[in-house]
Amino acid sequence: MTHPFSNATAARDIAFHVHSQTNPRLFEEQGPLIVTRGEGTRIYDAAGKEYIDAMAGLWCASLGFSNARLATAAAAQYSQLGFYHTFFHRTGDAVASLAEKLVDLTGMIGGKAYFATSGSEANETMVKLAWVYHTVRGKPTKRKIIARDRAFHGSTIAAASMCGLEFMHREFGLPLPGFVHAAAPYPYRGMVEGESEAAFAQRLADDLERQIVQEGPDSIAAFIAEPIYAGGGIIVPPRAYFPKIQAVLEKYDILCLDDEIVCGFGRTGAWFGKDTVGMKPQMMALAKGLSSGHFPISAVVMAPEIYEALRSFNANGGNFGHGFTNSGHPVGVAVASEAIRIYEELDIVGHVDRMGARLRSHFDAIAKSSDLVGEVRGAGLMLGIELVADKPGRKPFAPERKVGAMFDRIAYDNGLVTRCMGDVLGFSPPLIVSEADVDHIAERFERSLRDLERYVL
Ligand code: PLP
Repeated sequence: MTHPFSNATAARDIAFHVHSQTNPRLFEEQGPLIVTRGEGTRIYDAAGKEYIDAMAGLWCASLGFSNARLATAAAAQYSQLGFYHTFFHRTGDAVASLAEKLVDLTGMIGGKAYFATSGSEANETMVKLAWVYHTVRGKPTKRKIIARDRAFHGSTIAAASMCGLEFMHREFGLPLPGFVHAAAPYPYRGMVEGESEAAFAQRLADDLERQIVQEGPDSIAAFIAEPIYAGGGIIVPPRAYFPKIQAVLEKYDILCLDDEIVCGFGRTGAWFGKDTVGMKPQMMALAKGLSSGHFPISAVVMAPEIYEALRSFNANGGNFGHGFTNSGHPVGVAVASEAIRIYEELDIVGHVDRMGARLRSHFDAIAKSSDLVGEVRGAGLMLGIELVADKPGRKPFAPERKVGAMFDRIAYDNGLVTRCMGDVLGFSPPLIVSEADVDHIAERFERSLRDLERYVL
């Protein structure tokens, strides 16, 4: 990977700046990639090199990397009211309207929305609300959260505890007690020979039930899941998975929490990932696409019974003891409201369906002609490509070969930003991709794959 950076910026960055999800020593040796400008699906580095960011940054810049309407909405709000909060009864018309819009869009009939700043905060808010819910119903021992292997739910302490990824735990002695993990519904690696998808889903539901009984149903508050795994490797559960899992959750009075932070706002070819996979949650966490990543804002949309619990817990006059300085930040709300208006005007869901199918058919064709591609999977514009050492045997590469990371570096050189998750390559481009953008992603992907084949085969 080349680093066409201005030395002064790079030197300052290396001297003073700690980066997320970055190896400190490698960073000091290799330096930063300095991104100076974005336009549509493209970003540009300090040397003027152009890249298609096929990850929409961090699965978030749905409307691309600059957008005049979002800029105007933010500027208008800044000049009217640059900050206010939502503690102690404060609100504004835009906050109330966005809450109404989110309840309406999610189909959480009779529900309400709560605002926060990040995805992690939204997920942690759902955990606290699940505890309140059970406490009010006379079940205060229901505290544990079941998440899943390979899940990603954020970096704050409870959110990281819900992750099912070793790299989120190992430095910090996580997960916290009370956060347990169920098996991932990963058909490509989890189905045994001769097993149907329906039988696989049933086996996972039976395993979950056994786990619940072992932990003690009276100790479990909620189950949290992304409809389709993002950072865990773009894993699409079998169609029968969520209906079967939810039957088990209902049996044991366990809430279903839906992390829509990546899947929400059209990414999977539906407004929300839950509709792609048949999930029926009592709470949903929204972020990223909510503002197209152009302002840090997140939300929890909750079913009426969750709000009722909060209300009755505090019937004696106490406050909901929770809140972030920037909950319902007026500029975030203005940007998110404008982003949603644009999604509706563009019929973003229909567009994602069409562009997702086009990208998928390119990938399927390329996969046929490459011994490196074990599987192409995903939904909408959230696609994953699993690289393997032996295609018929589905044999993975030895992890120390870091084949996925090698691909990312080659792709950068070819002007394509992808994201390896082990040896699964992620594609989650801005939702506004045109047909030409999709074709460019496929071309640059194919070129990079051919380069990789020369190194590893
Ligand atoms: N949940 C999912 C599925 C995510 O992908 C992420 C971030 O990538 C988060 C939660 C955490 O969001 P944030 O980084 O805004 O806290």
